[in-house]
Amino acid sequence: MIISFDIGGSAIKGGIARSETDIVPLGRRATPKEDFAAFVETLRDIIAEIGEQPSRVALSIAGVVDPDTQRLTCANIPCIHGRTLAADLEAELALPVLIANDADCFAMAEAGLGAGRGHRIVFGAILGTGVGGGLVADGRLVNEAGGFAGEWGHGPIIASVAGNPPVAIPAYACGCGQKGCVDTVGGARGLERLHKTLHDLDLASEEIIDQWRRGEEKATRTVDVYIDLVASPLALTINITGATIVPVGGGLSNVAPLLAELDRAVRTRTLRKFDRPLVVPSECRIEPGLIGAALLGLKANAAAS
Ligand SMILES: [Zn+2]
Repeated sequence: MIISFDIGGSAIKGGIARSETDIVPLGRRATPKEDFAAFVETLRDIIAEIGEQPSRVALSIAGVVDPDTQRLTCANIPCIHGRTLAADLEAELALPVLIANDADCFAMAEAGLGAGRGHRIVFGAILGTGVGGGLVADGRLVNEAGGFAGEWGHGPIIASVAGNPPVAIPAYACGCGQKGCVDTVGGARGLERLHKTLHDLDLASEEIIDQWRRGEEKATRTVDVYIDLVASPLALTINITGATIVPVGGGLSNVAPLLAELDRAVRTRTLRKFDRPLVVPSECRIEPGLIGAALLGLKANAAAS
């Protein structure tokens, strides 16, 4: 039996996995962000509540493990940032511990139990607050040892003109230190940034989407530019990976007509032509982090036995 945890900036959620088809979410606790001892205690409490010793613990975290040093970068939870977290938790919990990036867990969940079922190569894309992604090939996560595979959100790549008629788009500064990243325009904050640039209006992404759906002119323009900017790097990602399906998660993935527009634009730009939807809503709507981490934990158990 595996215990999986989805470690978020505000909450830690737990789950029990006995098999790929038997994954049950547990309760949630507030994330201790500053105190590592309290962080460990929270995991220990959740494990103790189950009353059964797991064979492995698998964590989904909004962070990246350096494949060389095994140190975790996790800006929003200072008490685990910079730690060799798997080794530190193994010492504390006396259990094998596996750590995976949340976008990678999302891709695993979709490949195994979601919209990616039946596809050999699945690229899971996150359009949430920002942009992320993960790649699964033949059921295996292409990033198990850590690293940045699937991170299509970063790199100086955004077109300098976009939309119809074309309008100049500045190379926005990104949190990663570069300029012109997909992350600066592709998530909810990016949509808001584009609306501000194009119309000098500060609107929440939900409001922009609402107005777009009602046919409002400025919001329509913003979404037109958004689709144009995001579709090209996503199409390129599909060319490079050979993915035949792109399940999308994150807040913007809940806007079905937006995904449908993005899908149409992406399919005109990929080399391989698809006569069916390629960029689709995710199907694991509940806790993809928990499910993906559980699947990785179950695979690790199977490999170890
Ligand atoms: Zn960036």
